[in-house]
Amino acid sequence: MNTNILNILFKNVKDISYWENKYPKRNLKENQIVTRFAPSPTGFIHIGSLYTAYVSSLIAKQSKGIFYLRIEDTDQKRLVDNSINLIINDLKKFDITFDEGQTIGGKYGPYIQSERKEIYKSYVKHLYEKNLAYICFCNEDKVNEIRKKQIANKERIGYYKNVDPCLQLSESEILKKLNNKKDYCIRLKSPGNYLNKFKYNDAIKGEVNITENDLNIVLLKNDNLPTYHLAHVIDDHLMHSTHILRGDEWLSSLPIHLQLFKLFNFEIPIYGHLSPLTKKENETVRKLSKRKDPECKVSYYKKLGIPNDVIKIYLTTLSNTNFEEWYKENKNYNDFKLSFNNMPIGGTLFDIEKLKSISLDYFATLKAETIYDMLYEYTKEYDQINFERVKDNKDYLISILNIERNIERPRKDISSLSDILKNFWFMFDDLFNQKNNYEKSFICDKNIVLNYINNIYDENDSEEIWFEKLKEYAFINNFAKNKKVLANDSTKIGTVADFCEVLRVIITTSLNSPNIYYLMKLLKKDNILNRVEKFYKKNSNK
Ligand code: GLU
Repeated sequence: MNTNILNILFKNVKDISYWENKYPKRNLKENQIVTRFAPSPTGFIHIGSLYTAYVSSLIAKQSKGIFYLRIEDTDQKRLVDNSINLIINDLKKFDITFDEGQTIGGKYGPYIQSERKEIYKSYVKHLYEKNLAYICFCNEDKVNEIRKKQIANKERIGYYKNVDPCLQLSESEILKKLNNKKDYCIRLKSPGNYLNKFKYNDAIKGEVNITENDLNIVLLKNDNLPTYHLAHVIDDHLMHSTHILRGDEWLSSLPIHLQLFKLFNFEIPIYGHLSPLTKKENETVRKLSKRKDPECKVSYYKKLGIPNDVIKIYLTTLSNTNFEEWYKENKNYNDFKLSFNNMPIGGTLFDIEKLKSISLDYFATLKAETIYDMLYEYTKEYDQINFERVKDNKDYLISILNIERNIERPRKDISSLSDILKNFWFMFDDLFNQKNNYEKSFICDKNIVLNYINNIYDENDSEEIWFEKLKEYAFINNFAKNKKVLANDSTKIGTVADFCEVLRVIITTSLNSPNIYYLMKLLKKDNILNRVEKFYKKNSNK
């Protein structure tokens, strides 16, 4: 081995034994899982990475193990300022917290790859000395030229075996290029044979077929930073991860990683490759895309007013196929024990409609007061126009939210906080007075309605008495009990249901609403009379 070259490449680089001693094995029991979330600091957390972080943190925490944050910033072009804090804060809102990390501390740091250059160099030196790595001066043009030749000759693409001309460089040629400050990277000299196949048991996917890696992949780039392949293997070894849970886009690189672990003689962790979140679009299914899909941003749900708890329940639903059944019997989703066996193998469809239906169920279980508090915070942040309304109408809103709530089968009409004022706008006179179109409904003589409100309706009646009185009044005024009676009796002008319908439309403008008994009680008599006038002005007394 040419010492001049070694000196230029690895001057003052520590031996790997230094790092091996510095980061001893963790003192944990066998079933305690150590895993990590390893994002690139490229800005906001998207729903796919939230899913990975959520599953990984649960797996670690349920085993009373360690969950740490490692920042993978080796692609310096993609960095976004303040990303680490943004990531930590975003995840905290979902109760995802870390035991170790760059800003948290821990014995296995630095937990950010750009500060671990010295470590990676030691390990590259180790491979170099064992003739398992070499120096490559090919620039992008050269790599492309070789690739084009391979395509033209119908050869397998890539730098394998002796494809790279730099493998033929003599020591003096290398030295000359180094002295001339020519850009270089360091590549693996892969001893693998791509004809060798073997099986690997992935914790999530089960048995997968692996083809041995024979590519001389880049270990250290020309900016002196490692590639993902090298950094992942060194970091997860030195930080003693027992499990690597990551997106299945990395499955194709697994042969490289397994090979590196073996070449370094490291213990191989357990890999589990998570299926990506997908979306159905025009009958085809594709991966959720950060660029194309607004629902990819976690902030999208916040703006809509979908609580973080709902997102967590949905992520649990997606992560384990047996969760939904379990959740029907158990109230607290936090008690669910996640298992690798029940993780989906294929793509995981992220369906907003399903999320909303979980949200409907969730809101139905909450107390009106709790929803009010959430609505207060929500409008304060996202809906300034309605914030004052919410602030000034606490009791009234709680009464509205209480309509058909504290009963065995509560009403399910809120899937997000932004639904509330959309659903109940008509309970506010200023909003009601602005609206002039009514849904098409049955219409009876105005005096029948006026007489009912003035002389029969009593807001102190119980629901039962209210309905008895309403029916009796309707019968006297020629409304039939039901459609059958109406069809056989020409003196009848409609059914009792029709009478209720006209009241409902007068009060709400709509054919669908919560129980009008409660709406009328909250609106009060004078207000209802105003609404009768407004209705008949618009829908002349037909
Ligand atoms: N930085 C990699 C990514 O964002 C992490 C993959 C891994 O967890 O190892 O995809």
